[in-house]
Amino acid sequence: MTTLHGYRGMLLDYAGDPSHNADAVRLEPDGLLLVSDGKVFARGSYSELAAAHPEAPVVDYRGQLIVPGFIDGHVHYPQTDMIAAYGEQLLAWLERYTFPAERRFRDPAHAAEVAEVFLSELVRHGTTTALVLCSVHPESVDALAGAALARNQRLILGKVWMDRNAPPDLCDTAESAYADSQRLIARWHERGRLRYAITPRFAPSSTPAQLEAAAALWREHPTTYLHTHLSENPAEIDWVLSLFPGRESYTDVYDHYGLLTAKSIFAHGVHLSGAEVARLAQARSTLAFCPTANLFLGSGLFRYPEIREAGVSVVLGTDVGAGTTFSLLGTLSAAYQVLQLQRYCLSPHHGLFLATLGGAAALGLDDVVGNFEVGKEADFVVLDFQSTPTLRRRLAAPADVDECLFALIMLGDDRAVRATYVAGSLAHALTPPAGQ
Ligand SMILES: [Zn+2]
Repeated sequence: MTTLHGYRGMLLDYAGDPSHNADAVRLEPDGLLLVSDGKVFARGSYSELAAAHPEAPVVDYRGQLIVPGFIDGHVHYPQTDMIAAYGEQLLAWLERYTFPAERRFRDPAHAAEVAEVFLSELVRHGTTTALVLCSVHPESVDALAGAALARNQRLILGKVWMDRNAPPDLCDTAESAYADSQRLIARWHERGRLRYAITPRFAPSSTPAQLEAAAALWREHPTTYLHTHLSENPAEIDWVLSLFPGRESYTDVYDHYGLLTAKSIFAHGVHLSGAEVARLAQARSTLAFCPTANLFLGSGLFRYPEIREAGVSVVLGTDVGAGTTFSLLGTLSAAYQVLQLQRYCLSPHHGLFLATLGGAAALGLDDVVGNFEVGKEADFVVLDFQSTPTLRRRLAAPADVDECLFALIMLGDDRAVRATYVAGSLAHALTPPAGQ
């Protein structure tokens, strides 16, 4: 016998990309989401479903918006404590702030402590799935994976590889990175809701031998992911071309070593040529659009319209600690502004789609998360239109859902996340939910 739990509120999810098909927007103004064993059992109008299932206790979120859990397609957990580090662009920022912060993850106790903070911050901001870089230390993966497994939180994570151009005590080797990652795949990949990502940091910090080893390991484990950075900053790109003479472009470096796959996620891609974008589309690789990080480090503007037109799949990333917030609402607000500078208008539904079903599809997880299809994992977020005085005043006059959603994206933050449910269990609540 199944135990049903109901959640009443304004339900919003997407059956597909709403910018291609307006019918993909599924809005239930007075809706009920029924959950059983951590999965979606039914979604629909409250009056119909409550009458059909009077036995289900209902949590009352009337006046709030219930949407699928947010998906963060690129974030660094060892950088949790160094977010908002002043004054540098990418390469100097790595040297001055990032490497010292990551060095501390050699200590399993420190890794375990930050892992708990990091996972709490994700759900506090409504994020229920994340693609995460750990540090070079295998212990950092063990700490985060163990904590996520205990919380049943969906993560894709991996140990960073770097065997050159980093402080010597943070370098691994091609052989050790391969062996450590192989062990970590055996330990964590497809365990509970975890997936593994083979994670060379970026081309400058891996020798050709290490890039080859990463590709070889992926070919042995093709259900894992490949996760790295690409074309973030002009000085970085010049450096890559000098380190890999003979390669046409930054993308061509990864391509040459066998790292362009349908399971590859490349963060940034801010300065790609048309040829590089076309090659990424052909390889069915994904780009992570990290607008707050691109602005914070002065890297440049992600050319989303062109990249989308070329058929490259895109996931949003917060990229903390270069990114300035764990919030996908804040990230969407920055994305909107980055795209305004390119005369492109990101609609609120298109934005929320990217943060939910679109991100899930880009990560190959849309069979299990991303919307409220029956049988999917019940990861969802309750958003509060009244969370700040500004939002309250902005939405005081009757407004349609598009206007409310846009205000929430531009003005909302962690205070708007009233509650987050992970596989049907309450993982975060601003205030205790009210029964009915
Ligand atoms: Zn990053």
